[in-house]
This record gives sequence, structure tokens and C-alpha cells, in this order.
Amino acid sequence: MNRQVTLAARPEGEPAESDFALVESEVPEPGAGEVLVRAHYLSVDPYQRGRMSEARSYAAPVQLGEVMTAQAVGEVVQSADPRFSPGDTVVGQLGWQEYAVARGSTLRKFDSQPETAALHVLGTTGFTAYFGLFDVGKPLPGETVVVSAAAGAVGQIVGQLAKIAGCRAVGIAGGPEKCAELKERFGFDAAVDYKADGFSAALKEACPDGVDVYFDNVGGGVSAAVVGRLNVGGRIAVCGQISMYNDPTGAPPMPGGFGFLIVFRARAEGFLVTDYLPRFPEAERRLSRWLADGALRYEETITEGIENAPKAFIGLFRGANRGKALVRV
Ligand code: NDP
Repeated sequence: MNRQVTLAARPEGEPAESDFALVESEVPEPGAGEVLVRAHYLSVDPYQRGRMSEARSYAAPVQLGEVMTAQAVGEVVQSADPRFSPGDTVVGQLGWQEYAVARGSTLRKFDSQPETAALHVLGTTGFTAYFGLFDVGKPLPGETVVVSAAAGAVGQIVGQLAKIAGCRAVGIAGGPEKCAELKERFGFDAAVDYKADGFSAALKEACPDGVDVYFDNVGGGVSAAVVGRLNVGGRIAVCGQISMYNDPTGAPPMPGGFGFLIVFRARAEGFLVTDYLPRFPEAERRLSRWLADGALRYEETITEGIENAPKAFIGLFRGANRGKALVRV
């Protein structure tokens, strides 16, 4: 049998476990050009919150009763595509389920170790950090790069890439443990706890030369504090707005408005990692090299069991994860 997590209800505000259902179905058979994959790890990502809603976005919503969309890495068990053989490790948009049939053309073979890296540092979140920082943020040596949700999957990589680029890396994260880890394990120059009293003053102290690049993962009040410290010509790579994803009131994404763009002659630019698809091999090659050199590290928060995928997902909005959130199935 195949166990699947489906969307049971559209959440209002923070998602609840009751918005999901665990169902069983037959293991599907691959047709011509298709591959049957047994998932080993499922990805848990903030963008899935958007797919649970019917609001207009860059991708279609998951329908009620459908398997939750997600990336997964696993092993080919049956192949009707000559490019794949049983035993191959592949990554793709396979959903929160134990077995998935996918067209071979949508799968990526993954030969590096560990296989979980396909879902983070050598996959979507690593590529997001790479293109968002280098192509959108365009950091120069000696500049200050600030990243929010810095202890998460994208953020941890952004800060380390900023160091590789010769910048001062400043992370913003929730809680003293996450902040200490950013400095001690991931080499950030400074880390600021946005949940602590005196956040703005601490941010100012952490950025004595102002902020040249802001990699924004959260939006809201945290981002308003950062943009107040921009230097003239500052760049904001708008990657995510997680503080807004559960907000049904539609609070402004940038409290105080966008006047700062004029004051600092700054540029804010949104991007989607999928727009860089043709350049994924470049990102994978360079990130692999930095990993092998020891210049880049990563962290995983692994939840056991497909039945706990909803809990792991809800945890993203409460800061329960460090580094990449994954589910082992
Ligand atoms: P993370 O691993 O960073 O997990 C989310 C983290 O966000 C939590 O651990 C929590 O950390 C923080 N957070 C949650 N709620 C709030 C809040 N209200 N205010 C401030 N911080 C909060 O997830 P990812 O690395 O996968 O994603 C990070 C961001 O990047 C998301 O916004 C996501 O949507 C975006 N993204 C965008 C892509 C693109 O192509 N544009 C691609 C991939 C991701 P803490 O304990 O510090 O609060």
C-alpha cells in the first residue's frame, strides 16, 4: 500500500494538523515514459502554505483531497523510461507520499552523498541562496549582507555564501541558541535575535557600516528594521515573506511603506528559484565544491514518519527547525 498526506481543508491563519489527512491507496504502476519512486525523504517548505490557499500565486493551488505537493528524494523501483534504472537515486516534485509515479523528464538523478542534500544545499534551498544572493543581491567584497530566517535552510547557506564573497555576514533568527550557532558553527560575523528586547539597537550594533544587501526571507517588522539601516545603493533580494503567510488580515509587507527606496536609492527585487532552472548545474557544481572544501556546512531537522509531515510543516512557522526541515519515510 501507498500512504499519502492529502489536503483536507484550507487553513485560515496558521495551519492545523486537521487540515491534512493520512490516506492509503494502491501503489501506482508507471506507464510509458514514467518511473515509480519509493521516497526516502520528503521536503517540508514554507511555500506549501501558499499551495494550501486559493489566492492567486505563481503556481496552482493543491485541491482538497489531493496529495500535498512537495519535493522528495528516493529510489527508483520500476522504470518505463530508459534513462532510469531500479536503484537510481532521484529527486523530484513527488508529493508527500511513500510511492510516486512521475514522468522521467521531471526527475533529476542525484549521485552525491548524503541523498538528503538533494533537497537542500545541493537542491532548491541551496540554489535559492545562491541565485538570490549572487544574482539579485550582487554583494561586493567588504559589504555587509543581512539575512533574515538566518538559521533556516536558505538563510544558513546565504550567510556562508556572503562570507565566501568576502562580505560581513549578519543573521537574524529567533532565540539565543540559534544566534549562537550561526556565529560558532556557520561563521556569521554577528547574529541578532529578533524576538529579544532591543532588537533594533542590536541590529544597529551588528551593522556598524550599514547594510548593503538584505536577503529578505520574512517581511514585516523585521524587514522594516533592516531597511532603515540600508546604505545608499542598497539591494534587497526579496526571497520570502514567511511572517505574512498565515496572516489573514493582510498587514502591510513593509510597515512604514517604501519611502526608504527613495531615501537610500535602493532596489528591491523579488525572484523565484525556478526562474534559474537552466543554471541549476552551475549552482550545484559550485556549491558542491564549497561543501567539499569545507567552506560550506548545513544542518537538517529530520522528523520521523510520513504521518508527522503536517507537524513538521506547522513547526516551520514556530521556528522549530534548524537548517532544512525533512521527513524520513
Ligand atoms: P526555513 O528553514 O527558514 O524555515 C522557516 C523559518 O522562518 C523558521 O525556522 C523560523 O525561524 C522563521 N520564521 C517563521 N515565522 C516567522 C516570523 N513570523 N517572523 C520571522 N521569522 C519567522 O525555510 P526555508 O529556508 O525553506 O525558506 C525561507 C524563506 O525563503 C521562506 O520565506 C520561503 O518562502 C522562501 N523561499 C523562497 C524561494 C524563492 O524561490 N523565492 C525558494 C525557497 C524558499 P526563527 O526561529 O528564526 O523564527
